[in-house]
Amino acid sequence: MKRLLILTALFVAVFGKVTFEGHQVLRITAKDAAHITLLKELSAQEDLGLDFWMEPVRESLPVDVRVPFDSLQAVRAFLAFNNIQYRVMIEDVQDLLDEERHSMLKYRAVSTDDFIYSNYHDLKSIYSFMDMLVDENKGLVSKIVIGRSYEGRPLNVLKFSTGSGRPGIWIDTGIHAREWVTQASGIWFAKKIVKDYRNDRILKAILKKYDIFLEIVVNPDGYQFTHTTNRMWRKTRKPNPGSSCVGVDPNRNWDAGFGGPGSSDNPCEATYRGPSPHSEPEVKAIVDFVTTHGKIKAFVSIHSFSQMLLYPYGYTHTPAKDQAELNMVARKATTKLQSLYNTRYTYGSIITVIYQASGGTIDWTYNQGIKYSYTFELRDTGRYGFILPANQIIPTAQETWLALKVIMKHTKNNPY
Ligand SMILES: [Zn+2]
Repeated sequence: MKRLLILTALFVAVFGKVTFEGHQVLRITAKDAAHITLLKELSAQEDLGLDFWMEPVRESLPVDVRVPFDSLQAVRAFLAFNNIQYRVMIEDVQDLLDEERHSMLKYRAVSTDDFIYSNYHDLKSIYSFMDMLVDENKGLVSKIVIGRSYEGRPLNVLKFSTGSGRPGIWIDTGIHAREWVTQASGIWFAKKIVKDYRNDRILKAILKKYDIFLEIVVNPDGYQFTHTTNRMWRKTRKPNPGSSCVGVDPNRNWDAGFGGPGSSDNPCEATYRGPSPHSEPEVKAIVDFVTTHGKIKAFVSIHSFSQMLLYPYGYTHTPAKDQAELNMVARKATTKLQSLYNTRYTYGSIITVIYQASGGTIDWTYNQGIKYSYTFELRDTGRYGFILPANQIIPTAQETWLALKVIMKHTKNNPY
């Protein structure tokens, strides 16, 4: 780990940015529990600098891992020796990142009509998008600052409202910094709402009874860092006392089974839960907003990748008391989603579909009494993973919007 950290520090000093030249993403297929155990041992070897995009948990799920160039030989040898199958998903991570970089325009939009929705944008551009949207739609959209990030950035939430005193529906994107298609989709949703709210019968009916709150960049420090320094950053950017590793996994930091399996107490790991529940200002801001508001009736937190629609729980095997209804709505939502571009989703509770994860967002919101609590994992299923090409932003947002409308409509039709 030390050697890698020094190398990384060197790269940053020379180029200002971590490069991923020669890094490959491997898809490993575990055949049995023994393979899973071996892969867990592999992941514990910190000196290899592996970045698991899909953790080894069970044989039925593929394991995707980004392997630095210097570790490739060792990892390949380990897999071959143990007779574990794998294939290369991404030949060279940096090649994809270079393409992504080239497709990002320097152009600054002057209105939300000339904003380029089919591109990725930096934080400044997203924040300016929000301000333009508010300026252009004063009767419908307002901006609420629910707090400040660790580095002092405003945590902006767009509020779409056609009346006062209403219950709310919450949607967030970008809690994990590197999941760029989520923030990009959030931008698209915001514009879609202002374009459609008069003519789309379903959306109109939803906004007649509910406000929609949309936080496009839940983790702005992390997002900024993915642009300036390390595209593969996931966590927040708060330093950890006593450790050289920075940041907390904001999706393990909630007060729901906090500290349990599927979260780490090691600040250097990707799933580090933090010192205490809600220790991260980005999480605490949402907690305070939700509890103060008191009438949030649906809460949707959007991640990538894997093409899944998930509901509670993640930290316990005990089924959510509304499991049957949550499952039925998830089935309808994923069917609708698939109807547009035939994108196939799996759905179910977090612990049954992926793995046990403690301290997650929607377990907390569900335990707060928000029945319709969901998490999306957007495109794809691993061909590009976190580096989804920009030409998939709009189709991803379009199909996801159909599923979101199913969830919002169901919430409207089933008040509680
Ligand atoms: Zn995520």
